[in-house]
Amino acid sequence: MSTDISGTGLAGRIAGFVDDVITPIAPAMARGEGPSPRRIVEAAGEAGLAGILTPASFGGAGGTHRDFIQFIESVARADASCAVILDVHLSVGTEPLLIFGNDDQKSRYLRKLAGGEWLAAFALTEAGGGSDAVAMRTRAVCDGDTYVLDGAKAFITGAGDADLYIVMARTGDGARGISAFLVEAAWPGVSAGAPLAKMGLHGSWTGELVLDGVRVPAANRLGDEGVGFTVAMSALDSGRVGISAQAVGIAQAALDAALETSRRRAGAGSAVDVTAIADMEVLTAAARQLTRYAAALVDAGGRVTLDAAIAKLYATDACVAVAQSAVDLCAPESGSDSHPAAVRFRDAKACQIYEGTNQIQRVVIARHLLTD
Ligand SMILES: Cc1cc2nc3c(=O)[nH]c(=O)nc-3n(C[C@H](O)[C@H](O)[C@H](O)COP(=O)(O)OP(=O)(O)OC[C@H]3O[C@@H](n4cnc5c(N)ncnc54)[C@H](O)[C@@H]3O)c2cc1C
Repeated sequence: MSTDISGTGLAGRIAGFVDDVITPIAPAMARGEGPSPRRIVEAAGEAGLAGILTPASFGGAGGTHRDFIQFIESVARADASCAVILDVHLSVGTEPLLIFGNDDQKSRYLRKLAGGEWLAAFALTEAGGGSDAVAMRTRAVCDGDTYVLDGAKAFITGAGDADLYIVMARTGDGARGISAFLVEAAWPGVSAGAPLAKMGLHGSWTGELVLDGVRVPAANRLGDEGVGFTVAMSALDSGRVGISAQAVGIAQAALDAALETSRRRAGAGSAVDVTAIADMEVLTAAARQLTRYAAALVDAGGRVTLDAAIAKLYATDACVAVAQSAVDLCAPESGSDSHPAAVRFRDAKACQIYEGTNQIQRVVIARHLLTD
């Protein structure tokens, strides 16, 4: 993964950022004792990488989605928590603003996000309303030139540390009764629960976001009233390509760990399971190609819902399978909490769940085949 696809010098910057910033903190991140998500994004900003997809006119790197997946895969290979922090910030946290924001909104927020001064988050899921986003209960009631938001969002990456949330709330009935809002964390009525103790991704904060009578200026509605579902689904289409890249990075790291152990054991005269190693490489390489194809489609402006779902489903299933094989191949050392294969196995699972579970990716894929 060293090709500089867009010719912007990003490949070198990405490699330097991973070596100098991410790799040294990876063990602490895996224990949940590393720098906060905002600090990770600040460091990315210092390296010119907190706005890879943002045009240079707004302080970004003006890169492509192929650059973006290169970044996320490279970071995930070193540490999956940092990868999901950066992925959410760059994709579902910033892209809706790039696609649906007006000039005023872009000029108020994009520079801060692209410079890494502000951390962005995406708030769609609610308790009882994850896969079925249309069942959401958070309401936004128009009152003059403001909307008043009330409700609670669950499992939000970056909750408690983010500066800007893209919040989906109900302004009417059904899928066309959802609107998207840019909500600043500092506004009265915005609060967050403590980060959840997760099975993996310990360095990434995930928690509840509470909106209690939050007054949001109408100027902060993202897109027209009622297009929030479209905003969310389009964010998730490209977001799923980022999650695929994260999964490829985790799979590669698990394979790295298995190879290191297998080489050492072969050197000591022990047998090595070559079938397992070959299968891990095939899964990882195929996942990478599907992810690259989906990213290229996004760059070409094509319809990506189907191919993003295929990439997300395949890559995240592959990363769980590869990480599990790495635990098997590295046993008994991999029984230790901090063994790289164990860390990857715990980190891998969430990739099958967030930005649409893999059951939902199958629904998306089958629906396309049955209705197109
Ligand atoms: C670590 C982590 C970080 C996250 N970060 C964010 C974030 O930043 N922002 C955000 O908005 N959300 C976030 N989420 C939430 C995530 O997107 C949801 O958990 C996910 O979409 C599933 O929703 P749910 O948990 O409500 O499960 P449910 O929708 O209740 O589903 C429960 C189970 O039923 C299955 N199921 C549901 N409907 C169907 C169906 N039609 N067909 C077949 N099976 C079905 C699901 O696949 C799942 O296995 C995060 C989750 C995790 C674990």
